[in-house]
Formats: sequence, C-alpha cells, structure tokens
Amino acid sequence: MTDVVIIGGGPGGYEAALVGAQLGGTVTLVERQGIGGAAVLSDVVPSKSLIAAADVMSRVRGAERLGLRPASGHGRIKDGVTADLAAVNDRVTKLAIAQSDDIRSRLEASGIRIISGTGRLHGPDRVLAVAEDGRREVLPADITLIATGVRPRELPEAMPDGERILNWTQMYGLKELPTRLIVVGSGVTGAEFASAYHALGVEVVLISSRAQVLPSEDEEAARVIQGVFESTGMTILSRSRAVAARREGDGVVVTLSDGRTVEGSHVLMAVGGIPNTEDLGLAEGKVATSASGHIVVDKVSRTSARGIYAAGDCTGVFALASVAAMQGRIAMWHSLGDAVAPLDLRSVSANVFTSPSVASVGVSQAEIDAGFNARGIMMPLRSNARAKMQGLSDGFIKLFCLPTTGIVVGGVVVAPSASELIHPIALAVSAKLTVDQLAQAFTVYPSLSGSIAEAARRLHPGAAISEHVDY
Ligand SMILES: Cc1cc2nc3c(=O)[nH]c(=O)nc-3n(C[C@H](O)[C@H](O)[C@H](O)COP(=O)(O)OP(=O)(O)OC[C@H]3O[C@@H](n4cnc5c(N)ncnc54)[C@H](O)[C@@H]3O)c2cc1C
Repeated sequence: MTDVVIIGGGPGGYEAALVGAQLGGTVTLVERQGIGGAAVLSDVVPSKSLIAAADVMSRVRGAERLGLRPASGHGRIKDGVTADLAAVNDRVTKLAIAQSDDIRSRLEASGIRIISGTGRLHGPDRVLAVAEDGRREVLPADITLIATGVRPRELPEAMPDGERILNWTQMYGLKELPTRLIVVGSGVTGAEFASAYHALGVEVVLISSRAQVLPSEDEEAARVIQGVFESTGMTILSRSRAVAARREGDGVVVTLSDGRTVEGSHVLMAVGGIPNTEDLGLAEGKVATSASGHIVVDKVSRTSARGIYAAGDCTGVFALASVAAMQGRIAMWHSLGDAVAPLDLRSVSANVFTSPSVASVGVSQAEIDAGFNARGIMMPLRSNARAKMQGLSDGFIKLFCLPTTGIVVGGVVVAPSASELIHPIALAVSAKLTVDQLAQAFTVYPSLSGSIAEAARRLHPGAAISEHVDY
C-alpha cells in the first residue's frame, strides 16, 4: 500500500484525496480550518452565494426598463426591495458549512482519514500532524501533496479588525448593509464585491491603483465593466493607491498615497493573497519556492523534492478552484502510476462574477496584440435579438481563431450569464474545433449563444470580416 498524506483540504487537496483513494492509496488529509478549504468556507462558495442575491437585485433594478411597475402604482420597483444582509449572510454561511459537511462525508465514505489540525514536512517521507487538541502524530508519507492555499494580504497600516476594516473572509459577519463601502483593490475579488454591494444598494467607492478596473482581464471587457460601474453611480478612484485605513468614530478613513483621504462606513481590503507556505518545513525538505513564496511545480505538480507534490493557489499557477482540483488530481495520477496528461492552461475557463460578468478562455486579446497570429471578431450584445428582448445592452462576445485553419483558440464573453456562455467556446478550444464546425451546430433562436455561432460564421477562413450587423 502507498501512504499518501495531503496537507490542506481545499479543492487542490480534497479532489486529490478522492483520486488517491480511488487508485488504492492509503490517504490521510490534514486540514486546519475546515474541509473544502478557503474555496468552500470563505472564498468561492460564500462570494458566489452573495452574488446570487446581488444578481436578483440587479434584475429588479432593470425591471422598469421592461415595462414593469410596482403594483401599488407608486414609487419605483427597486425602492420596494431591500437586502436583509443578516439573512443573506446567514444563508451564505449555512450553505458553505453544508457544502463542507457534504465533502467531508464523501471523503470519509471513500476511506480517507481526516485529521483536523496542522501539517508540515518532517524529514524524508514523513509529515507531522498536530491535531486541534495538541496531539502530535508522525505520518509515513510515500507521497506528500501540499495544497495549503493563500490568505488575504494585509497592509501594515490597514490591519483588519473584522468589524469595519475587513478582508474578504470577514464580509459574511456583517449584519447590516454598510452605508458607504470603500473597496480597496480592483482585481477580481475587489471588483466582484464592489459589484455585489453596489447591486445590493450600497454606496460603493472603488479604489483602483490602475487606470481601469480588472487590469488582468480583456481590456475591452474591463472597459465595459468600468462603464457599467460608473454609469450606475459607483465612484471609482483610478490610479489611486490606498496606504492606510483607520477607524474614526462610526466609520473608517482610508488614506491614499498622495495624501487624499476617503471616508466610509466600512472598508474591504482586497489587495491580493499570500501563499500559506511559511511553516511547512519546505527549506528542510528541499522544496523550492519562488521569490513570492509560492511552491515551484512542473506540469504534473512535482516539486523539486522527490515524492513531494503541490497543487492549487500555493503554487501560484492559476488562482482558480478548477485548476487547483486538476493539479491535485494530476499529482495523484502521476505519483500513483495512472495515465496522466500534463496540466494544459490553454483550455481553462475563468469568470469574473461582476454584473455583467466576464468569462474568458484560451488565447487572449493581449497575446494577439503582442504578436500571436490569430483572427478575431467581436459581436456586441446589443446586436443580439435575445439581448434586445431581455433589455441587455452592455457586453459582447469575442472569438479568436487561427487564420488559415480556422481552429478556435480563444474567446471572451461579457454578459449576465458569461460563465455559462463560455462553455461552447471552451469546448471548441479544447477539442480544437474549427469556426466552421462551431458555426454548424444549431443554436436556439433567439439566444445569446446565437452570437457565438454568428461570430464563428463571420470568421470563416478566407472571408473578409465585415462590420457587425443586427441579426
Ligand atoms: C473572494 C474569492 C472568490 C473566489 N471565487 C472563485 C470562483 O468563483 N471560482 C474559482 O474557480 N476560484 C475562485 N477563487 C479562487 C479559489 O478560492 C482558489 O483558487 C481555491 O480556493 C484554491 O484552492 P486550494 O485548494 O489551493 O486552496 P484553499 O481553498 O485555500 O484551501 C487550502 C486549505 O489549506 C489549509 N491549510 C493551510 N496550511 C495548512 C497546514 N499547514 N496544515 C493544514 N491545513 C492547512 C487552509 O486552512 C485551507 O483550508 C476565489 C477566491 C477568492 C479570494
């Protein structure tokens, strides 16, 4: 029997544990916070559950454009609906705990031993687990997988107090809507929270160190999001760097690097994450890390040390739950001698759950602008029949393909349901379908996905790319 020890029970760890058990390993999972990890307990599951409530509010806000009115005949529809944040957060928290329990049950049913505690490397082929009650156990480990994730980065002058100066894990403790929420950071986490709270009716000030929000996303997509944020009343302080946050009376004051101050009731610090790799005994175990503290891995999740693998956010490869899970599974397939293909990031779909949301896969516009030889087309949402019927105007679908063969290599969707609409493009990228094959599949009329087929038709190899027309 092969002894497998996994440190960290997020998607990188628990998905690996399931594969390890399936392939006949004796698997022990050491997790200090809760099964499901940050993904389930504080990051993906809670944030997307909160955003589900915010999405409904966004639709309520847009209802009058479709001709709907309050039954009373007075006031505005949006003024008749408010978010009970205590109830929203209660649902969010219960949902996360229930999901964690489900995963624990599945692991236990698969014969995986779970130790609630902290793990670290302990000499060759061993892991030391210190349980919550202080008991220490040295576990034999023919294979070790480290999947310890990241935690919120903190600025020394803006330390979270869990009440008014908050990191993203602390947002679900709020019982009442902030009156003025300052969000520091306009990356994915900052933009998602700013979008959600704005939709819930909160005055939001977004402090962005860059010229435009979502600096790592498709530039035109980010422009749409910035435009929607601004046109619906969010304040965005671009090219502004927050250096400090302090409590003052019933509120907070955020100081910017140029000396300006911003006042609010609460501030969310969303300035990235740092890997949980300090106390794992990595140096003694000869596990190489990068300057940022991430564990260096190859495409089959091997570290520099024999028998030690790593997966997920602590590797800094691609901060997504889906990638963490795949890295974890690959580690098990490789170490336990099953068939394995190296990690391929080309077909990873990613989504930013703003309103509208931004999904992308494969080759990006930035890569094409930098010289990658591909053709592309953008179909604005406002030219799509279904979008018109639904009153949607902000967004687009972009498709990229190789010039001669027409093989689909990437795409971007900005739409309310972008996370679902990206799938046909992701399928085309991973199966190396051509634009003609993509165009030949029937789409429902009317549907937003009709724009994907239309974009594919326009990209027919050899055809001149015409200006968009309504269809
Ligand atoms: C607000 C937010 C929203 C997000 N939304 C999405 C999304 O919608 N979709 C998506 O794909 N990704 C999303 N992500 C990213 C996603 O959360 C991460 O990519 C994912 O959690 C990575 O999984 P992991 O297994 O590497 O780490 P984690 O989920 O962080 O799990 C690591 C676990 O290891 C434990 N641990 C650490 N050190 C030790 C130790 N020494 N001993 C024992 N246990 C230890 C930690 O307690 C933690 O539970 C979001 C991130 C944030 C911050």
